[in-house]
Amino acid sequence: MSLTDPPVTQQDQPQGPRVLFFDTTLRDGEQSPGCTMHAAEKLRMAHQIASLGVDILEAGFAIASEGDRDSIRTIAREVRGPIIASLARCKREDIEAAAHSIEPAPRGRIHTFLSTSDLHLAAKLQITREQALDQIAEMVALARTYAEDVEFSPEDATRTDRDFLIKVCEVAIEAGATTLNLPDTVGYCIPQDYAQMFLDVRARIPRIDAEGIVLSAHCHDDLGLAVANTLAAIEAGVRLAECAINGIGERAGNASLEELAAIFTTRRDKLPYSHNIVMSKLYPTSQMLAECITFGAAPNKAIVGANAFAHAAGIHQHGVMVNPLTYEIMTPESVGVAHNSLVLGKHSGRRALEQRYVELGQTLTRPELDTIYHRFTELADRKKTIYDQDLLTLLKPQPKVSALA
Ligand code: MN
Repeated sequence: MSLTDPPVTQQDQPQGPRVLFFDTTLRDGEQSPGCTMHAAEKLRMAHQIASLGVDILEAGFAIASEGDRDSIRTIAREVRGPIIASLARCKREDIEAAAHSIEPAPRGRIHTFLSTSDLHLAAKLQITREQALDQIAEMVALARTYAEDVEFSPEDATRTDRDFLIKVCEVAIEAGATTLNLPDTVGYCIPQDYAQMFLDVRARIPRIDAEGIVLSAHCHDDLGLAVANTLAAIEAGVRLAECAINGIGERAGNASLEELAAIFTTRRDKLPYSHNIVMSKLYPTSQMLAECITFGAAPNKAIVGANAFAHAAGIHQHGVMVNPLTYEIMTPESVGVAHNSLVLGKHSGRRALEQRYVELGQTLTRPELDTIYHRFTELADRKKTIYDQDLLTLLKPQPKVSALA
């Protein structure tokens, strides 16, 4: 498709293999700074993430705390749709805690992991490669006594000696792992490295393809490549993408769920993978997460940032008014951003502002409206068009007005 072609409808698009979405917002995301959630917030997010259509929801790390254990168990009991997963180190007490926490779920998964790079084996675990293999065999087999569905992750897979990684994968499969997740734990890979690792593993372990063992990607964004690496892995035969809402997670975060879903939907011509994500729920889910943790998406964040669809430059605005396709590769509505029925600007009055907030589901008291109106006029002095996202941002505590610029 060239950029001048008319947009193609979804029916015209090729339908390729299904990619499974594994959401780790409540595990890898929740364990990162500023992202701690209470049990009620986790349950609320879990319901929302389930309604978004993810295939697997990693609800937490059962052994980490009693609170985690209880909240995974509540999610397993109350949230329907996705497979509910709990993380566990390759330790008996971890696996038992994980097994207990997912018990109420109709479909549960134990996700167990052990570091396999020489650096991690020596510095972190102080065990030999042989001891690691024994531990993996024993603990994956133990997990299988509790669950049909067991995922194994060799932590730091991308820095693990390749021959040893192959051995690790063979041992995990032999012990009963049904999904093999090869994480780029430290976010060091570039796309061709990451893809090559999966091609090697598939070529050297034919039973992966023959027996339908699911390969999974888990990428961190330390070099800003988490989404690119995940895509490269999928092109190399991976069928499961681990990701998080707003890309939250350890350090620079995980691959962003909304970016992956938007890429598969917008560029189905080149990446014809089907998925189960309900696109119109992306933005509301991103907003809900921002309410539960201490930060939202950066304003310039793809898909869900406040400026993702804001056309500020005059020449862009003119183009978008004539035909949105001039600068929009997808519509804000398609990812669930509320439709702009009325453009607010610095000449808009309090009544119009109040009315728009009502449309956005926010009822303001008179003093609140006065405060927000003041912020609104300041913002309108700097920004030609005020979008609904801007208005929702104005409702949040504003430590410095200059942050809005
Ligand atoms: Mn991680």
